[in-house]
Order: sequence, then C-alpha cells, then structure tokens
Amino acid sequence: MADADMVLEIRGVTREFGNKTKTRVLHGVDLQIRRGEFSALIGPSGSGKSTLLNIMGLLDRPTSGEVCIAGQPMTHLSDDALTRARSRTLGFVFQFHHLLPAFTAIENVMIPAWGDRGQADSALRARAEALLRDVGLSERMHNRASDLSGGEAQRVAIARALCQNPPLILADEPTGNLDTQSADGVFTLLRNFNRQRGTTFLIVTHDDRLAARCDRIIRLVDGRIVSDERRAPADSPAP
Ligand code: ADP
Repeated sequence: MADADMVLEIRGVTREFGNKTKTRVLHGVDLQIRRGEFSALIGPSGSGKSTLLNIMGLLDRPTSGEVCIAGQPMTHLSDDALTRARSRTLGFVFQFHHLLPAFTAIENVMIPAWGDRGQADSALRARAEALLRDVGLSERMHNRASDLSGGEAQRVAIARALCQNPPLILADEPTGNLDTQSADGVFTLLRNFNRQRGTTFLIVTHDDRLAARCDRIIRLVDGRIVSDERRAPADSPAP
C-alpha cells in the first residue's frame, strides 16, 4: 500500500457471534486512521465499540472484511504472526492498568519489550526511564506497581504502551477508573504526547467531555458508523 500516513485501515468489517443463531454485531465498518490523529470512538453501550476495538487491536478476527495496520494486511495471518504484528504495531491502554503488581514501575514498562532475551538492554532501560520522566514519575520508577495510586499506575501503563514507539495506540476507556482530577491529568498526558510527538491515538470513551477534547469523533450505533466528525477540539490553543 502506497499511503505511508495510513496507520489503520479497515474495510467492510463484519462480526457475527453464535453458532446456530448468528447475531451480527458489526455491519460492514469502514474506517481509516492516519498518522498523528487523536480520535475518539463513542457510542451507546452495546453498539459494538469493544468488538470493533478487539478487531482493530488484532485480539479478534472479523467474520468478513479486511484489517490493515501500517500498510500490512492482517486478516490472513496465522495466530503467531498476528501476535508478533500486534506487539510491533500497537500499544494498548485499558481501563484497568493490568500492571504486574510485584514488579517495579520501570520493569512494567520494559517487560513487553524484553522479548526472548528476558532482560533489558541499556537502550531499553534509558527509553523506559525517559518515558517515566515524561509521565511525571521519575521519583516513583523503582516503586512496586502495587504501591502506586490509580492515576500513577495508569501513567505507567501509558509509558508501557509507548515504549516500543508503535504507530498506533488504542485506548479503551483509559480514564474510566479514575477520579476526575486523575482522569484529567491522564487525558492531558495523552493529548500532549499527540501534540508534541505526533503519537496516534484512538480512544474509546463514554465521556462526552473527553471526546470533545479530541480532533475527530467517530460515533458507532448498532454496529455502524453513523457519524465521523473532524473538529477543532475544545481545548485547542488559541490561534
Ligand atoms: P460496547 O463496547 O459498545 O458496549 P460490545 O462490542 O461490547 O459493545 O457489544 C456489542 C454487542 O455484541 C452486544 O449486544 C453484546 O452482547 C454482543 N457481544 C459482544 N461480544 C459477544 C460474544 N463474545 N458473544 C456474543 N455476543 C457478544
């Protein structure tokens, strides 16, 4: 594929569940995400957001349709190849941070990148330290994850998602489990990574106020994209 700016392209994606009685949850979804975008995926509960996110995140396969990430068609890869492609091309931030509680903050950032070596080289350690500084945790990087607050743990999860510099970060209700102040801090962090470094985010959220701070709002209803709006976000700097 020629378009180097396209980080995600899905075409005609459907997903059905059930064996005898099939229920179609996604009805031919088309979506393109370009490098540097900061987009929200919104929609009522049950509209298919998680199903779509799982397919875009290569955690599930569509019943039909195509998924391309960073120009690579994914639909026909083996499970092993899909797992490798996922770790190379995607970062994930979930509602619950899923840190390993017995490991330190910096170890949690480095572990997904350890690969088969099972340990960190100096370049990886330097990158993890820099990211933890960037998320405001330079004083906490050697604390165990179990000793961190919810907001701090989510910041570690963001550093972990960014550590291998993936072309796309998928965030599923990244502030859903935080109090208002921590949620605002975490969201601002994502926004700043996007503005300052061009990191591409697609954020699933229930929160209209957060969606209003994104550059693009994609709305899913009953398994179909019903609107896709590009806009000046509410907190854009004055021109
Ligand atoms: P949302 O994230 O927008 O709340 P979901 O993607 O979780 O929506 O669910 C969309 C619909 O698909 C719901 O009706 C849900 O019950 C159904 N669904 C999701 N996963 C499965 C599954 N594994 N088996 C059967 N139905 C499912």
